[in-house]
Amino acid sequence: MSRFAEPMARLIDELKKLPGVGSKSAQRFAFHILRATEEDAMALAAAIQALKATLRLCSICNNITDVDPCSYCSSPTRNQRLICVVEEPTNVAVIEKTRHYNGVYHVLHGSISPIHGIGPEQLRIGNLLTRVGDGQVEEVILATNPTIEGEATATYLCGQLRRSGLKVTRIATGIPAGSDIEYADEVTMLKAIEGRREL
Ligand SMILES: [Zn+2]
Repeated sequence: MSRFAEPMARLIDELKKLPGVGSKSAQRFAFHILRATEEDAMALAAAIQALKATLRLCSICNNITDVDPCSYCSSPTRNQRLICVVEEPTNVAVIEKTRHYNGVYHVLHGSISPIHGIGPEQLRIGNLLTRVGDGQVEEVILATNPTIEGEATATYLCGQLRRSGLKVTRIATGIPAGSDIEYADEVTMLKAIEGRREL
């Protein structure tokens, strides 16, 4: 039998499903919610309900949105001929923060990982190929992570996209801004040299 009353045990079990939340954190969150005001606890429940009721994936780019197509895909001021492919919806926000990208996006919702049994068919690649299929797109930037999985995904996509005859580019990787090359590992240093550009 659980050490907690049934509603408490139930909340703890649900919270444990969140990424990075173990038993102890789940208990801490559950007790916090129990002690919170009725208003705060209900606001949390309502926010979760509203999120699930109103948010969905954009049918064009798979980004999380409350309108379909999303604000990027329907924007007349963004370059619809330039697509930046990312692994997760959170990556879009990071690229937007640069304020120097005016193209649109395509969110894969993951990366190819044979160890975890994730192949290309588990990712949202189909509608990317449909998007480039009509010949309107000029360039696809592959902005998947510089990890084994991200590189494998970029290599796979490059093979698929090149068939359409469009320009396929990969984001540069290398030394982080503000750091010292003395502390760079050899893989990072090699990537930095390979990705050099003329000044
Ligand atoms: Zn979209």
